[in-house]
Order: sequence, then structure tokens, then C-alpha cells
Amino acid sequence: MKLSAADYIKGIQDGNISILSRAITLIESKKEAHRVQANEIIAECMASQGGSKRIGITGVPGVGKSTFIESIGNHICDAGHKLAVLAVDPSSTRTGGSILGDKTRMESLGRRPEAYIRPTPSSGSLGGVARNTRETIILCEAAGFDIILVETVGVGQSETTVRDMVDLFILLMATGTGDELQGIKRGIMEMAELIVFNKADGDNLIKAKRSRAEFQRAVHYLPALDHGWPAKVDICSSIEGLGIDTIWNDALDFFESLEASGELKKQRDLQRINWMYESIEQHLKRHFLHSESSAKLLREMEGKIISNELSPYQAADQMIQSWHENG
Ligand code: GDP
Repeated sequence: MKLSAADYIKGIQDGNISILSRAITLIESKKEAHRVQANEIIAECMASQGGSKRIGITGVPGVGKSTFIESIGNHICDAGHKLAVLAVDPSSTRTGGSILGDKTRMESLGRRPEAYIRPTPSSGSLGGVARNTRETIILCEAAGFDIILVETVGVGQSETTVRDMVDLFILLMATGTGDELQGIKRGIMEMAELIVFNKADGDNLIKAKRSRAEFQRAVHYLPALDHGWPAKVDICSSIEGLGIDTIWNDALDFFESLEASGELKKQRDLQRINWMYESIEQHLKRHFLHSESSAKLLREMEGKIISNELSPYQAADQMIQSWHENG
């Protein structure tokens, strides 16, 4: 049955999961008519949002992200929350696979009525996937999910993208793998409020405690985060459940402190402003660079650059000029 925008909005606000899923599929659609309807739904849902907590989780493949999300996700649901788990996975755009696509992952969490796990859309550019994820967050919040976890693989640009759509960012590292020395870019550490050493069990427990002490010292030397909350280092075993409650308490402490200081609102306001600029950029790219009329002229300009007839700047100027003229 075809639903109107009003049907979607009502279904979402009633917490109807099948309508929520259909609405998310709608925002992932590339068809213009779907886009128009999706925009109406998003605008309405955005007006009714508030009070939720958005948390990003990153780490290289194998570090234990899905095991961690399953463990902390169960803890969050036990505490009476409704939890949505989303993913931004740039690798899926290449391989067709996806980090949340495998149904065996997060099995116990997936069975809980308080949890909603949305697999990654399997195609699209990072920009497109990011936009969909942001909009999905808004729909999930309107459907009553008060905790949103966004998972991303710690490679490439996706961490920055996810950092820009969440309030709190968690960097997961595996104890005893040497990750702490090489795998993780300093830039990612600088974006995280919580650095967590996972796999702190068996022989690794002592190593994890040592890493925690070292990193707790090291984070003092990182530039302070804009909101002023000092980054923390925790350890956990996602398999044994050790340390999960401490991490959740630290997360709650972060939210309490930033809500009190007004920094949480400030960060979200800034993010929404950035989304506008990004959205303009994407629109311009789509309509300018990828339009049929531009495509022909672009090929021509490429030829003129290769034959040294035009400099890259002159070619760009001509392109923009022609765009202004033909609009
Ligand atoms: P992801 O690729 O980051 O999502 O990692 P997974 O959650 O799939 O975990 C990768 C491997 O590490 C799996 O074999 C997990 O069983 C294992 N693993 C995850 N968390 C822990 C942990 O806390 N302790 C131990 N010993 N192994 C873990």
C-alpha cells in the first residue's frame, strides 16, 4: 500500500517499526518523487525531536565493535532505553557487503524489542550515505529511540563524517595488538571523548590496564575538545561484560555535564549549520558537475587542459561562466 507523507509521519510517531523502516528506505531512494516526500517527513520529524543521545563508535575492523555494541546495547536497553543502531560503512560501497549486513552479528541485541538495528545501505558515496544516516537518526528519534549508536570503520574519511553527526565519539582499540602504536591515526584520537581498550580479558587484562594508564597521560597532551570535557580512557571486555557499566556511566557523565553547560546544544547547532553547507555543496555538485549539459563541456575542457590550450583555472572559469549563462 502506498503511504502518504502524513501516514509515514503518524506511523513513525506511533513507533511503528515497519513504517519506520519503509521511511528509511524512502530517504535512501534516489528517485526525485521519493526525495520530495522524504523531505516532508524529515522536516516534520525534526520538529519533534529532542532529548536523545547520539553516540558514534569507531575502530579498525576486528577491534570488536559489533561485540562491544551488543554488550553495551544490552546494558543500555536494561537501563530502560530504546536503542537504534546505525552504520556508516564506506567499504560497503565498494564490496557490496556491509558492517551490519551480516545477520549473525549482534544477535541477542537484535532480538530485543527495545532495539532497532538498521543495516547499512549498500551503495552510494560517503556523502550520500552520511546524509541518509543523519536523516535516519532524525526518524529514529521521532519514533521514540532515545539512544542512537552509529558505527563506522576506522579507515578513511568516515570517522570525521560520523563525528559530525553525533554528540559523543568513542574510539575502540584492541588491547595487545600494537594498534595503540601504529594503527590509529592521532587525528582520530583527537576527535574522541572516550578511548576504550577492548579485549581486556585473560592475559590481556594487565596489558589493558597499562595501556589505560599510558593513554590517560597521553590525552593530556592532546588539544582540548571544543566543549571542554576532558577525554577519558577506559578498558572493557565486550565478551565478559567487564567495564561496560563504567563506560556507560562516563557517557552519561559527559551528557550531563554538556547539557548543564549548554555545550551540547551549541555542538548540535553547529552541526546543523554544517549540514546546510554540505547539502548545498552536494546539490551544486549534482546539478552542476553531473548535469548532462556540463558533462559535454567538461570533456571539452579536459581536452583543452591536456593540449595546454587552457590552464585548469581558465577551464574552471569557463565552466562556471557557462553555468551562469545557461543556468
Ligand atoms: P569488528 O570488526 O570491530 O566489528 O569486531 P567484532 O566484534 O566482529 O570482533 C572481532 C573478533 O574479536 C571476534 O572474534 C570477537 O569474538 C573478538 N572480540 C570482540 N570483543 C572481544 C573481547 O572483549 N575479548 C576478546 N577476547 N575477544 C573479543
